[in-house]
Amino acid sequence: MNLDSRIFISGHRGLAGSAIERRCKLEGFREIIVRTRSQLDLRDQAAVDEFFASEQPDYVFHAAGLVGGIHANDSRPADFITDNLQIAVNVIDAAWRNGVTKLLYLGSSCIYPKLAPQPLREASLLTGPLEPTNEWYAIAKLAGLKMCQAFRRQFGFNAITLLPTNLYGPGDNFDLESAHVLPALLRKIDEAHAAHAESVVVWGSGTPRREFMYADDLADACLFAMRHYDGEQPINVGWGTDLTIHELAAALAGVVGFRGRLEFDRSKPDGTPRKVLDTSQLTGLGWQPRVDLQTGLTLTYDWYRRSMTASHAREHVPCDSFSHSS
Ligand code: GDP
Repeated sequence: MNLDSRIFISGHRGLAGSAIERRCKLEGFREIIVRTRSQLDLRDQAAVDEFFASEQPDYVFHAAGLVGGIHANDSRPADFITDNLQIAVNVIDAAWRNGVTKLLYLGSSCIYPKLAPQPLREASLLTGPLEPTNEWYAIAKLAGLKMCQAFRRQFGFNAITLLPTNLYGPGDNFDLESAHVLPALLRKIDEAHAAHAESVVVWGSGTPRREFMYADDLADACLFAMRHYDGEQPINVGWGTDLTIHELAAALAGVVGFRGRLEFDRSKPDGTPRKVLDTSQLTGLGWQPRVDLQTGLTLTYDWYRRSMTASHAREHVPCDSFSHSS
């Protein structure tokens, strides 16, 4: 990859894609290609073919997908499986047929079996049943990963897969119905603080454990892997350390300055009990994340406050559904 390489970032409005775009700009890449969903619907095979044929990208960071938190996944299974399958098939196939040098596909830690041993090792993929609340998304992401491996074996296409842990950061989706836990709780706690409320409702028991990584660290890992990893096996990206949802809520309350109570609504699903990655493959190659949780939460909250101030006419921060996360 050099600074004149043509780089296509799919899902550049999303959390992962926008961080990758920021990073590529920072490094000085001159030919960064992006398309909004209205400019290019990645579910439309003919449109995707035409795009690759005319733009001829050299490298593809494939960060697009229909994503959402536990509620969105559970209530829109048909959308999650269909959109993500179509997007994976269209982009990977068109990239290969149009001579892309290398493609990086983003999977997710939620494609691991629900009860796989923790920390999750890459070898545990496809060894057991999935978490039912997100199996639709997971099946589509697993199919994308397998496509990368199949195209590598049959055609020698250099397609690699990274499996990031839960991401957070600027540009996240803060819509309470569809958001992941971190942005959802950040918004709820900020609103409770502003309203001088006595308590905030946290879904579930608060005991599930999750790992969180700042999106710019993922972008750093993507550039690293594009330059230094050419293997068939998917690679985990994260910290390898986790905390409970209760602890996360308490950390967010600290960042916001909220001193009220945390109430746990046990009628809401907990999802998978624990999700922490074994990151030894990537650290073995020489990569480490840098932005610790306290710093990342502070940066995210600063961004959230700024974007709320900038858009106080709007009801909430808009989300582009073609973006990446678990
Ligand atoms: P998951 O990591 O795929 O299970 O998806 P989420 O990020 O949506 O949820 C993670 C955990 O956080 C689950 O145990 C949720 O019940 C819990 N949680 C607590 N409060 C919230 C909330 O306000 N929104 C979401 N999405 N999850 C919450």
